[in-house]
Amino acid sequence: MNTYGRMDVAFSHGKGCLLWDEQGKEYFDALCGIAVTGLGHAHPAVSKAICRQSEKLLHTSNLYQIKAQQKLADKLVAVSGMDKVFFANSGAEANEAAIKIARLYGHNQGIDNPLVVVMENSFHGRTLATLSATGNRKVQAGFEPLVSGFVRVPFNDLEAVEAVANNNANVVAVLVEPIQGEGGIRIPDAGYLKHLRQICDQNQWLLMLDEVQTGMGRTGKWFAFMHESIVPDVMTLAKSLGNGVPIGACVAKGIAAETLVPGSHGSTFGGNPLACSAASAVIETIETEKLSERAAYLGDLMAKELKAKLKDIEAIASIRHQGLMIAVELEQPCSELVGLALQQGMLINVTADSVVRLLPALIMTDEQAVEFCHKLADLIKGWLK
Ligand code: PLP
Repeated sequence: MNTYGRMDVAFSHGKGCLLWDEQGKEYFDALCGIAVTGLGHAHPAVSKAICRQSEKLLHTSNLYQIKAQQKLADKLVAVSGMDKVFFANSGAEANEAAIKIARLYGHNQGIDNPLVVVMENSFHGRTLATLSATGNRKVQAGFEPLVSGFVRVPFNDLEAVEAVANNNANVVAVLVEPIQGEGGIRIPDAGYLKHLRQICDQNQWLLMLDEVQTGMGRTGKWFAFMHESIVPDVMTLAKSLGNGVPIGACVAKGIAAETLVPGSHGSTFGGNPLACSAASAVIETIETEKLSERAAYLGDLMAKELKAKLKDIEAIASIRHQGLMIAVELEQPCSELVGLALQQGMLINVTADSVVRLLPALIMTDEQAVEFCHKLADLIKGWLK
């Protein structure tokens, strides 16, 4: 169906942060399939895991024990400090599980009309519940009636959340991205998540973090919540968890991990041996290659280079980053840059009209990172002239 405005290019293969199109032209991939291929393309550990598993078993269903799923759950629990995992196939589906946990948690406490606090400018997916949770009218328009049960507040505004707490006894959870990705790499003030944690604790709400884009090392820690030394009740993952093999996960702790019971939720494909083997290889690789630390270092390096090359340019509103979530925000709409970058062999993205969003692979060399920044800065400067 005509759901995507696609660019006129198709890629035949990739290696690390490079891609080649069908005519053999080389590209530097600074987008990673929208934060998916964090380990780069054709990573040998992931390829090997997929090959080995595909020769043994792809799927049996959740009617049976799945060793690869248990192994992945153990790894996710170990690196997150949380308790249990439900496996899905995408970010939207992982968020659906989180929303269902919140509602069931509310009903278990006798709240018949449970509400979840969500943010303006957020993005949580395209299913009916997740587009209703999303704070972007463009995503919702035409799909009314929306799913009810969400209360919206501005992002990075703790007073607004406090006001909801004081005025609404039906709230059971907060769902928030630690950094708003689609919304333009909006990084909240330091302490924001910590305060949200406190508000949730005071009101017996679940703190549910959508780490679909921020998770798996990208921000310089395994998960973005670790920058604030808190642990959420629920965290959702997808995107780079499988490095391109579709998988989503809803990770939970404490009472939130005990809320869903047999029969209350499920998925045919969720957590199948193939996807789980790929994701286990991703986690092992992030661990052994210390890629979270590498993301923190590379993010600082790239931001420094971009700031140096673009300093004194009035049309640059801000350059901000946390690890390898990098934004170059312009004072004007700049989606034209995407096509121009493609012509010059660079894959970038523009979101929120005026934000060049960079989500490059965690396995870049320093030289690749610096070279790309110089090339991109020259492109932006040339375009602004
Ligand atoms: N949550 C966040 C923060 C996202 O960035 C996205 C996708 O961009 C989603 C959820 C939805 O994920 P998916 O497209 O896998 O359903």
